[in-house]
Amino acid sequence: MWNNAKDRALRDRAAQVIPGGMYGHQSTALMPDGFPQFFTRAEGTRITDADGNSYIDFMCAYGPNLLGYNHPEVMRAVRDQQALIDTATGPSPLIVDLAEAMVGMVSHADWAMFCKNGSDATTMALMIARAYRDRRKVLVATNAYHGSLPWSTPRPGGVVPEDRAHLIYFDYNDPQALTDAAKQAGGDLAGIFAAPFRHDTFADQTLPDAEYARTARRIADEQDALLVVDDVRAGFRVARDCSWETIGVRPDLSAWGKVLGNGQPISSLLGNDRARAAASKVFVTGSYWFSAVPMAAALETMRIVRDTNYLEHMQKIGGMFRKGLVDQARDFGFALRHTGPETLPMVLFEDDPDFRLGYAFCAAAMKRGVYLSPYHNMFINAAMTEADISETLEATGAAFEDIKRNRDSLKPSQVLMAMMET
Ligand code: PMP
Repeated sequence: MWNNAKDRALRDRAAQVIPGGMYGHQSTALMPDGFPQFFTRAEGTRITDADGNSYIDFMCAYGPNLLGYNHPEVMRAVRDQQALIDTATGPSPLIVDLAEAMVGMVSHADWAMFCKNGSDATTMALMIARAYRDRRKVLVATNAYHGSLPWSTPRPGGVVPEDRAHLIYFDYNDPQALTDAAKQAGGDLAGIFAAPFRHDTFADQTLPDAEYARTARRIADEQDALLVVDDVRAGFRVARDCSWETIGVRPDLSAWGKVLGNGQPISSLLGNDRARAAASKVFVTGSYWFSAVPMAAALETMRIVRDTNYLEHMQKIGGMFRKGLVDQARDFGFALRHTGPETLPMVLFEDDPDFRLGYAFCAAAMKRGVYLSPYHNMFINAAMTEADISETLEATGAAFEDIKRNRDSLKPSQVLMAMMET
């Protein structure tokens, strides 16, 4: 029987010693009531919380779990490397192997740099775009997430207007808005940030329009600015290459993170020869950026990406999840919008402006052993099986039944509403 006594006790302790009880994307306000906050094990596609409840996990650590938690081959590479050298005075030769592997895998790339978080990689892209021709203005799609540093964090706390003084916002997928934003930048355009597809929180996902992507490339060429694709979230879940390779548009820079080490902390910025001199001008670094263990994990992850059908498998599993859930919702009298690639499903209810249905549905599924998100795109991993999807659909069927029965008494989360207003 599901129970969260330990989780509640840990939350009480956390509230004393961690601001807000938790922060960032783990902020307690973002989660449906009763969602576990603390986990003690992760294996394959399942996570176990502090109370011993186990869940089929559709969040995959918000991306990093690509091949399955505790993947045997990746973890063997980790252990072998740990026995030799990890964080030390200089990098191991693996950094060269990994840069070669990335350049070999990603068509637009001629070089690679490594860091820890996606925010490191996107911020390096920003700096390199500015260093390229000594210009300031950067175009960014409204509401697109590129990390949590002052230039990019979605919340206003601690940010001053000067942090974003040279950012110009445009609507995603709108070539005219992009053209207008570039005009506004005039001769000071440094770069254009593009999300591989629109994957904002609390909103349907939209695939990139080819004309929009080509316009971004053309403007960057005409103005001698750099085009950046932020593949931190979508990397290797859309293609074994930069995600925009699927629509035939090559950026100058692409930012990677999350999946790269299948959960080991490593991210990367890739670039072409045009951006090489600018990349060697900026001073960027970190105490852990040259650690060898995550690089060993990344090399093994990339080998599996290259040599197996992990992507086709995830697409099939994601398609089953999509179809199963949408059909099931219809049977229970609900309409769901399931948008974006099958491997990064976003599921929102129609007629649910304050997300009360979505939150109640995810809370009900969670108590039956399936961890979903009501506001963020989810992630499929390669360890998920058809049996996991059948088990998931059993839980979601019961969850639909639950919210159908209680529909009139559901209330929106006050904490969430207050947070969304700021
Ligand atoms: N860009 C995108 C598209 C992301 O989804 C994220 C993380 N969710 C980031 C950048 C930032 O990555 P990190 O949290 O590792 O800094």
